[in-house]
Amino acid sequence: AINRNLQDVEGKVNVSFEFFPPKTPQMEQTLWQSIERLAPLAPSFVSVTYGANSGERDRTHDIIKSIKQRTGLIAAPHLTCVDASKDDLIAIAKDYWQNGIRHIVALRGDLPPGSTSKPDLYAADLVEILRSVADFDISVAAYPEVHPEAPNAQFDLLNLKRKADAGASRAITQFFFDTEKFLRYRDRCAAIGIDVDIIPGILPVTNFQQLRKFAGLTNVAVPQWMHKAYEGLDNDATTRNLVAANIAMEMVKVLSREGVDHFHFYTLNRSELSYAICHLLGVRPQLAL
Ligand code: FAD
Repeated sequence: AINRNLQDVEGKVNVSFEFFPPKTPQMEQTLWQSIERLAPLAPSFVSVTYGANSGERDRTHDIIKSIKQRTGLIAAPHLTCVDASKDDLIAIAKDYWQNGIRHIVALRGDLPPGSTSKPDLYAADLVEILRSVADFDISVAAYPEVHPEAPNAQFDLLNLKRKADAGASRAITQFFFDTEKFLRYRDRCAAIGIDVDIIPGILPVTNFQQLRKFAGLTNVAVPQWMHKAYEGLDNDATTRNLVAANIAMEMVKVLSREGVDHFHFYTLNRSELSYAICHLLGVRPQLAL
């Protein structure tokens, strides 16, 4: 059954890959090995995160520049507005545009720990600011299980609509594990008139312990079957990788059958699992580096 389902979607699938700025020379080497492995799959774009409040926007920009130079791929920096003024953002946007960057992943960013005041700018405002500077291709974030700060699901959905109406071209979702939740969310987006692509963010989970902590902060449910799947594997990275690939494969298979034709991979700077999942989706090397 797996072959039949995957062949059905072969040739019609787009992928994109997300990376983060490495902190050590060794991590940097891993990142470049991963980019070199994944680039020939001709992703629609690759993106590089920027930690809000980290003050390391230049590092994100440097990696974006290097990816563009070394691979020719469309490389999109993530940009947050929680830690910048409107004037700063206009200057950054102008600088990006002048440097040939045309695609930006526009985010608010998390509030600094302990902060109680309302932020001046939300992601929808950032989309508007970027649009006022130039004709950027803009991706935004979406939350099938509702953003933790949203007063309710409808408010959060309307927030995505505001981002789309302000000029975003697509929404990339927070990672999730219950495909039904994604599909129902996609339906609700359509029903409310959000006409941009809702792209599932796929996280192959190789470190379950870390996921459990992170999922709590992000309001993402980790189903009981996943706890069971990773049980007893804390010291067995090889089996964890196989389990991770299997779970992510199952998810993309279900989503493909429901017409999803673009998957965004949270690679965590590793290529193996994303590459294998792409391979099974029929996404094969096309570009020679
Ligand atoms: P928004 O869309 O602005 O929404 C934030 C919250 O505010 C929501 O609860 C929304 O409902 C609410 N809200 C919106 N407008 C208003 C309003 N006017 N009044 C009151 N409430 C409002 N973080 C980083 O620091 N760096 C990254 O590189 C990064 N990349 C990410 C990539 C993806 C694909 C995703 C899904 C998330 C990423 N994040 C990143 C995390 C993101 O910054 C956080 O989830 C952040 O808390 C919300 O960002 P947002 O862009 O979704 O914000």
